[in-house]
Amino acid sequence: MGEKLCLAARWAIPVVGEPVHDAVVVVDEGVIEGVFTRSQFNNIYKSQSILRAEDYKEAVIMPGLINLHTHLDYSALRAFATDLPFFQWIEGLVTRSRQWEEERWFQSALYGARLAAFTGTSTIVDSSYSGQAARALAHVGLRGVVGLELFGLSDAMADTLWNMWLERFETLNELDDQDLKKALNSQLITLTVSPHAPYTVCPSLWVKAAAWAKKFNLPVLAHVSESQLECQWLSKGSEEVNKFLAFSMRESEDSQKLKPLWAGRGLSPVKHLKNYGLLNDSLIAAHLVHVDDEDVDILVDNGVKMAHCPRSNARLGNGLAPLAKMIDKGLHFAMGTDSLASTDDLSMIAECQFALNAHKLEEGANISARKFVESMTIEAARALKMDHLIGSLQAGKRADIAVFALPPAPLSEPERESLCPYNLLLSGGARLKDLLVDGQFVVSEGRLNRRT
Ligand SMILES: [Zn+2]
Repeated sequence: MGEKLCLAARWAIPVVGEPVHDAVVVVDEGVIEGVFTRSQFNNIYKSQSILRAEDYKEAVIMPGLINLHTHLDYSALRAFATDLPFFQWIEGLVTRSRQWEEERWFQSALYGARLAAFTGTSTIVDSSYSGQAARALAHVGLRGVVGLELFGLSDAMADTLWNMWLERFETLNELDDQDLKKALNSQLITLTVSPHAPYTVCPSLWVKAAAWAKKFNLPVLAHVSESQLECQWLSKGSEEVNKFLAFSMRESEDSQKLKPLWAGRGLSPVKHLKNYGLLNDSLIAAHLVHVDDEDVDILVDNGVKMAHCPRSNARLGNGLAPLAKMIDKGLHFAMGTDSLASTDDLSMIAECQFALNAHKLEEGANISARKFVESMTIEAARALKMDHLIGSLQAGKRADIAVFALPPAPLSEPERESLCPYNLLLSGGARLKDLLVDGQFVVSEGRLNRRT
């Protein structure tokens, strides 16, 4: 028998299965061996040597959190002009960032990756304009799925635009960066495609991206039905969106030929994508704020997964997705923070706390803390088709583990024992102590282990 890592605490939340009180989680060579009560552990492991044993006491041990939608690229634009209307905000974001050199993008993404690690996030699903988010994740030691963003409005130029994207993708894949190379080889980081949104990517280009992703069995990351204006543009047309598109494509040949023929055709973004065969179980659609019953049924029928970003949607004035109704209809959702340019921090727990309150307030919904904890762990892993590897503390899965210290409570032992650990986790004050990714300590005692 080899030496193992043993993590003990008042609670373990395996997510699949019930919480374990007075728990020990055993890790062997980067793989979870099991979650035990302390007495089970003592019986099974009494004669074995232990490499490292940590007793966190008043803490919860759980799977590392998964952020299903963000843009680490924009982390340096923290608290960026979110008082502006949505399309002016994007225009400002583009104006500010497009002058950046590669190193500036990398430093911005690195800042975000570090902040995410400090909140217990072990896996980041990122739509990256520059691609530097992949490097940043590799340097911090996080797991990631990074979609290199794709834009282009001219159906006539779809071949050229797609080849340009493929070239950028290859360049990123072969970047001379040892950390990234290692992470790509070990599949800790996966690169894929992120067609930005139905109003910035013409159908024939999106079709090429989806076919490419299908060939390699990769997820497709996109924004869908984020703002009212996006819906208006697709159904009736919108001068405001046209102006933004002319601005954003100003440096490309596209701007001369800008005639988005798929706008103003009376369709919702969801129906528009359906018409081109672009809805399937590989699509991770961020936002989905403005959807009607029919849209939700279509999404469910096609197995689309939703990345729910309620704080960003609120901050940018885009509204709140009808989550309770979506859950009733069987839509699978997980949580995303979106970027620091449209939210306060990259904490998944804070995102869930906000969602819990917002949906109760707006929809009168009773979505449980447990449901939200599942959404930032196993449901996100399922959306990525990575639930055989991550998303729960189960024997055989990779050791992506977050340990949160719980705030002290003036309660007697039996009272404290009777509290629901899901509620405790989302009730505020949980503070990250340690974060493991693939069995490696990325954060220990609140400090980053890698120096980059
Ligand atoms: Zn986004």
